Amino acid sequence: MIFQSTKTASLKANLEDAIFNSLPADNGLYMPEYIRQISPDFLENIENKTFKEIAVEVADTLFEGEITRSKIENIIEQAYDFEAPAVGITSEDYVLELFHGPSMAFKDFGARFMAALMSYFLLRSSREIKILVATSGDTGGAVAQGFYKVPGISVTILYPSGKVSDIQEKQLTTLGHNVTALEVDGTFDDCQRLVKEAFLDQELNAKFNLASANSINIARLIPQSFYFFSAYAQLKKLGKPIVFSVPSGNFGNISAGLLAYKMGLPVEQFVASTNLNNAVPRYLESGTYDPRPSIETVSNAMDVGSPSNFVRFTRFFGDDWNSVTEKISGFFFDNFQTQEAMREIYKNHGYVMCPHTAVAYLGLKAYREKNTSDFTGVFLSTAHPAKFSELVEQTLEESIEIPERLKSLLEIEKVSIKMKPDFSAFKNFLLS
Ligand SMILES: *Cc1c(COP(=O)(O)O)cnc(C)c1O
Repeated sequence: MIFQSTKTASLKANLEDAIFNSLPADNGLYMPEYIRQISPDFLENIENKTFKEIAVEVADTLFEGEITRSKIENIIEQAYDFEAPAVGITSEDYVLELFHGPSMAFKDFGARFMAALMSYFLLRSSREIKILVATSGDTGGAVAQGFYKVPGISVTILYPSGKVSDIQEKQLTTLGHNVTALEVDGTFDDCQRLVKEAFLDQELNAKFNLASANSINIARLIPQSFYFFSAYAQLKKLGKPIVFSVPSGNFGNISAGLLAYKMGLPVEQFVASTNLNNAVPRYLESGTYDPRPSIETVSNAMDVGSPSNFVRFTRFFGDDWNSVTEKISGFFFDNFQTQEAMREIYKNHGYVMCPHTAVAYLGLKAYREKNTSDFTGVFLSTAHPAKFSELVEQTLEESIEIPERLKSLLEIEKVSIKMKPDFSAFKNFLLS
């Protein structure tokens, strides 16, 4: 599979290079040079395939023989002991539950695959790598779990102090071993900037094999396309076009949906649903991209002022705003609307949602209000509600059940290193 930088088409990389050096030297992002189509036969019979079979077929189509099919099967087997069920809420709307992995958020799909893929490549060489990752909450937990005790890999996670939930913080600060958590006195955008600077720093790159696990890494994006295919497989029998509403922050998740679409997955429309960090819905409305500093909201994993995958998101459409807006609708919602939606769905359907999922639900609802055509709506549930138990309980005025896996975490002491949002401090830490 050949990738090219979004900034310089002649700057190319194969899969292995693109996952270990995820940021091209010109500071662009890697995109597939071209996208192979999923086999029509496979699509025809997809309703009879398991999640893993779908994942193998999609990866094998994209990788074009760079990894053998049997190795891909091993990687998928190693990565996924969980699936993505589409659960009916009403007769026409389904929630795609992406929180059945080890950290109970959708980022497990990307992180587990990336860890398995990297360890496949590392086993063939004797390299050691250092993963740097900024998290607004859920990436950290998924990456920590995904790479925990993987030989040859150490992981440094940067997170904004006081801006992630208790459970999220525990997920990244309690593993130890090859996983270190840096608690940054700043915002997620600060964390992301520090990581970006590190990748561009010559001295650090001379000393270490640095790799990124953020959604800029194409190895995280590719596997997220699997569950769009899986949702289609589960809902195909309804015989209606499908609209996906994706709760978006850095726009990795929806970009993976676009990758699936470009491979030939039939998708009627994507809805980009955000909180008040609404640079993309505003772009869809006006044609002008005007990112702003991030704002804190109740759906904090989407508190991203300047989405790092925006360039990819538009590149799928040749950066043409008219084409983008034909396939993508955008809506944004405030905290009040989000919490109202959580109450509404709980009251009417007995279903408990995390705030990010509620934003996706609202996006689908807003799209339905504008479009009277007959379609199956799918809103993506990106995290288990118990990861945000405090907010969920306060909103629903009910106590919710916390899965054992999360409960036991809360009893472990957190271990983090505090840091100012300052590159020289970060660099010194890495060099020490
Ligand atoms: C990361 C995250 C999102 C946003 O996903 P992007 O790929 O960054 O758009 C949404 N919800 C939850 C729970 C998340 O952890």
